[in-house]
Amino acid sequence: MSTTTTTYKAFIGGEWVDAASGETMEVINPATGETIAEVPRCGAEDVDRAVEAAKKALPEWLEKTPKERSELLHKLADVLDEHAEELAQLESLNVGKPLMASRDEMPFSADNLRFFAGAARQLEGKSAGEYIEGYTSLIRREPLGIVGGICPWNYPLMMAVWKMGPALAAGNVQILKPSEQTPLTLLRFVQLAEEVIPPGVLQVVTGDGVPAGERIVQHPDVRLVSLTGDVETGKIIARTAADTLKRVHLELGGKAPMVVFDDADPKAVAEGIRLAGYWNSGQDCTAGSRVIASARIYDALLEELVPQVESLKVGDPLSSDEIEMGSVISKAQQERVLGFLERAKGATVLTGGGTRGDRGFFVEPTVVVDVKQEDEIVQNEVFGPVVTVQRFADDDEAIRWANDVRYGLAASVWTRDVGRAMNAVRKLQFGTVWVNDHLLPITSEMPHGGYKQSGYGKDMSSYSMEEYTQIKHVAFKLA
Ligand code: NAD
Repeated sequence: MSTTTTTYKAFIGGEWVDAASGETMEVINPATGETIAEVPRCGAEDVDRAVEAAKKALPEWLEKTPKERSELLHKLADVLDEHAEELAQLESLNVGKPLMASRDEMPFSADNLRFFAGAARQLEGKSAGEYIEGYTSLIRREPLGIVGGICPWNYPLMMAVWKMGPALAAGNVQILKPSEQTPLTLLRFVQLAEEVIPPGVLQVVTGDGVPAGERIVQHPDVRLVSLTGDVETGKIIARTAADTLKRVHLELGGKAPMVVFDDADPKAVAEGIRLAGYWNSGQDCTAGSRVIASARIYDALLEELVPQVESLKVGDPLSSDEIEMGSVISKAQQERVLGFLERAKGATVLTGGGTRGDRGFFVEPTVVVDVKQEDEIVQNEVFGPVVTVQRFADDDEAIRWANDVRYGLAASVWTRDVGRAMNAVRKLQFGTVWVNDHLLPITSEMPHGGYKQSGYGKDMSSYSMEEYTQIKHVAFKLA
């Protein structure tokens, strides 16, 4: 893939347009630090243009049958499949992530679109009937109208797809804003799919969180905003959305514990951590970033873990198919991750802890021990290739520590004892709990979403369709 600069435009009302201001912004390859593209720096005026185009598109789109909406999603999935390799290469170029990861994301994203193509035709609800004497009541599940989707940089195309599927399946029209750092795959995907998208039904506005994202949240005609992003961004968006009482769907950060009981197999757990802690350079909201291990297994686990982590092949994702971990997303993110390590006084870095290479924004895969539950590095999302390992005395302490963070997105439990696993599953305050695995067991049929400050609302599964619909009770007086 060439690294010459490509110029993209925003997709508004079925046309490729510049920002009204004419301003552009640079997009960087984080594995080299080089500029690879320019995209419009859209502002409030551009969002308003997109809303006007959405309003125009909505009446005709509302007349579409579920089958017709389903057909659009199937076509989008086909486009994604046909161009999966190109999109994977572009994702790796823009995010600095290994090709093996980007290549995994494309078929999964296509599958997600196909799941919602099916779900569009399968909305279920309460049966119509005479709940009030002399009346027949029935329920209509209706789209919200114009919805906004604001995406993060860690899985740029996949997160956009997770929003696109349920929104369009439910009969909404959507305005998507990719992250300012990683807009390329969504733009390229829409370029490739342009012919199948009715103008104004799916639009892409590029730009910064403020003003572009903010305007989507402020606009009175946008009925829902779905954000995948940071907890603090979620709070700002929820506050801003309150002014127009728009519905908010928040998929926010995480600090996933991996609770390892003393009967677990240390080798299997270490292999699990190698993947869960360092996949996408740890820039995953469900990354297994906090290992909480029984004192009885702690030493054996570390003996397995350190060589596992040191065996990760780190480098520029486009230099080889074998690369397992790339860079982090930016210089600022690299500094942020290293800042956590510098401030972790009293902690011991068993491996890693520094940068790697003389260009790009790499952080070594890092394992940190001797941390306390109240330490910043245990409490806050690092969003980098850093895993802490704590030693617990008894099962109650393990569950207490696992729950003692503000986040609640995902957790895992490692044990051979079914009863112990079920007990932990019951007590863990997280939206996903895996048993004897972590991170990869996700599927379009099952919901993904947080408890506590990891947000509310679900992605994937039929539950997410509910987020993008509203319910109407209709009562007919019987003659
Ligand atoms: P971020 O919050 O900085 O940015 C996310 C998006 O919000 C970007 O498009 C940004 O432009 C926009 N934004 C920023 N300020 C805004 C504002 N005031 N109004 C409207 N839009 C605004 O997050 P990020 O750094 O891109 O992504 C990393 C975060 O995303 C991590 O915390 C991670 O855990 C989280 N994440 C969560 C999930 C999940 O499913 N729960 C999945 C992936 C990532």
